[in-house]
Amino acid sequence: MNNTIVKLMRILQEVSLLDSAAAQIKIIVDSISAAVGSDVCSLYRADANGDMVLLASHGFSVAEKVCLPSGKGLVGLIARQKHVLNIADALNHPEFFFVADSNESRFQGFCGVPLIHNGKVIGVLVVQSEMNERFGDETEAFLVTLASQLSMILSSLPLLIDSDMAVNLHLNGVSGAAGIGIGSTRMCGSEDLGSVADALSQDPEGSIRQWKELLDLVRSEIAAEKAMLSDSLSDEITGIFDAYEMIVSDKSLSDRVEKELHAGNWLPGALRKSIFYFADLFESADDPYLSARHEDILHLGQKLYRAWQSMSNSGDRELEEIDRKVILVGKKISVSDIARVPREFLAGIVCFEGSSLAHTAVLANALGIPAVMGVDEYSGFITNEMLIVNGNDGIVIVHPGKLVAKQYSRMVRDDQSLKKSLESLKNLPAKTRDGQRIVLFANTGLQADIEPGLQAGAEGIGLYRTEIPFMIRDSFPGEEEQLAVYQKVFDAYAGKPVYMRTLDIGGDKQLPYFPIHGESNPALGWRGIRFSLDNVQLLMTQVRAMIRAAGGSESLHILLPMISCTEELNAFIVLLEDACDQLCHEGVAIVKPKLGIMVEVPAAISQLVFWKDKLDFVSVGSNDLSQYLLALDRDNGRVAKRYDHVHPAVLHEINRTVCIARQCELALGVCGEMASDPVAIVLLTGMGVKQLSMSAAKLPRAKALIRSIEYSWASKLFHEVERLDNAADIRAFVMAELQRETGWNS
Ligand code: PEP
Ligand code: MG
Repeated sequence: MNNTIVKLMRILQEVSLLDSAAAQIKIIVDSISAAVGSDVCSLYRADANGDMVLLASHGFSVAEKVCLPSGKGLVGLIARQKHVLNIADALNHPEFFFVADSNESRFQGFCGVPLIHNGKVIGVLVVQSEMNERFGDETEAFLVTLASQLSMILSSLPLLIDSDMAVNLHLNGVSGAAGIGIGSTRMCGSEDLGSVADALSQDPEGSIRQWKELLDLVRSEIAAEKAMLSDSLSDEITGIFDAYEMIVSDKSLSDRVEKELHAGNWLPGALRKSIFYFADLFESADDPYLSARHEDILHLGQKLYRAWQSMSNSGDRELEEIDRKVILVGKKISVSDIARVPREFLAGIVCFEGSSLAHTAVLANALGIPAVMGVDEYSGFITNEMLIVNGNDGIVIVHPGKLVAKQYSRMVRDDQSLKKSLESLKNLPAKTRDGQRIVLFANTGLQADIEPGLQAGAEGIGLYRTEIPFMIRDSFPGEEEQLAVYQKVFDAYAGKPVYMRTLDIGGDKQLPYFPIHGESNPALGWRGIRFSLDNVQLLMTQVRAMIRAAGGSESLHILLPMISCTEELNAFIVLLEDACDQLCHEGVAIVKPKLGIMVEVPAAISQLVFWKDKLDFVSVGSNDLSQYLLALDRDNGRVAKRYDHVHPAVLHEINRTVCIARQCELALGVCGEMASDPVAIVLLTGMGVKQLSMSAAKLPRAKALIRSIEYSWASKLFHEVERLDNAADIRAFVMAELQRETGWNS
């Protein structure tokens, strides 16, 4: 059976690459039936009402579509009990439900397992046999193991496979940038053919025509390249062009691509699949010559793909004429993908990879484009089909029904009119109705973010993530390069405080030119200040650049990420003194920067009393603080929904930090995502937090909220919330009270 598992895992992987959902399902049931030797294998999928729809079956013949009412029959029993059922005599089971006009009366042995995704039953897998016997324990264990894999595949398939009816299929990801976007799908390739996603084309015939043009184009490109080089290079080397020419003219490649195109895949998806199919085939050949040819195939694939990209880009003129909103969808979305679409037509971004801190997310935030990252991979996207991106909740809705589309359109309109009405608040202070002043800062890291922050009325920069300028380069930037970048920030925010954080890489933030490998637990590994203190030359360069960029002003506040112990803080203080001495000796006019730490490692909270004389301020990094308190990675789709920064333990620890900071006379702000969440804003205000920092796009709403509440009310509310033991109740309670008090609508 172990071999069977390996075999089936392979089938499942291959299946997940198939485009046609119906074909995927059919292969699954046929293969399972063959693997366990059953007469029947059926796969049921729960629809929106919980009814079980038979998606495909091997060996079970039915006259028409089968849909078992919710809870009905043995399938319903399995779904209710969320438990496997393995019995010898299904026909005499009290809950057996006979499907009319079927051959079901022949099958007695029955084993069914629930398919569970995110805690919910989304389907049931059934095998049946003509024998009056239970299936063996080994088969049962195998089906249970398989079910967990299968449920992942099933969850990414449309609810109604054979129909193109709108079904409001929800795909989950994490919020990359807030806001709601509605538009038509525009698939984006990346630079690399291997990263191209599958998508459905609306015009397979057009794709086939395009494929033929592409072949002609690449054939003539190869001939031209060969002619150009044949004088100067040996035949042995120019022979590579013959190999390309041979592959490109090979009928089996064309046949395979065309088969994929007929099945509905878009051209880059069809090309990726076909090229990788042949490359794998060659690689596994015993003959070393043939095996080495797989590289040629991959190179040719990349060449064809580049040619396709330039062919499509010459259609950019067409793009400029587009008169409707577009949503970019792809594994990775590059800056140039974004730049190709006129800003007014770019309604959203959907990325299968990446976290809320990925470049694409940062850029989307800066530009105010709703984005969802790390979305469940799904092969049913259709080019030019309507799509909804809900960047607030990290959800993408495919095939939206009329009603849902209407609701979302209304939300977009409301959002736009809210934005307009908020513009008038720009120069008004963020002050509660009873006079508590809250300072609002912007989080930034990109040049593109600087101006929007000022436009939104930011009173300074509360968190400048210096890792972003490091991430978008090919090597560590030197002192002069950093100086130029930081100076722009100080110039734009002249006279206002700027909190610059030292390099915070590691964990989910990797530098392309300095990848940190081999850590089994990167979140607890070499990151933030730990990395910087071990690479003290980089830290010294950075600190010198920051101090010089501040140009003798009082603006610079240096913020240290991931501080967890006294030794780290002391080591930095020595380095800071050293940097100041060096610059003084060099004759640079400096002002010693203010120093603070991020409170994001829980250990820092109880250490604050020891550090109070060494620090000027603290900034609560609620993203990491919640991650470490809850042992939850919010960028991991499997657990992200459990992550909530209003979890009672997080609130308790933040309130403790606020109290300790007050006793120690340390200024305190909050700069994680929490600072822009309306429920959290109320609670933080109630705790007495007086400084919040968030992305520019979220500032106006936060200000409007603060101006609508009373500090005394928020403070009372926070104490009431301290009696609640879970985040969901806390959210519901605060929202209800907020609505009652101010009429605020989420
Ligand atoms: C945080 O952890 O809350 C924070 C602001 O830092 P980052 O999100 O950059 O890790
Ligand atoms: Mg952090």
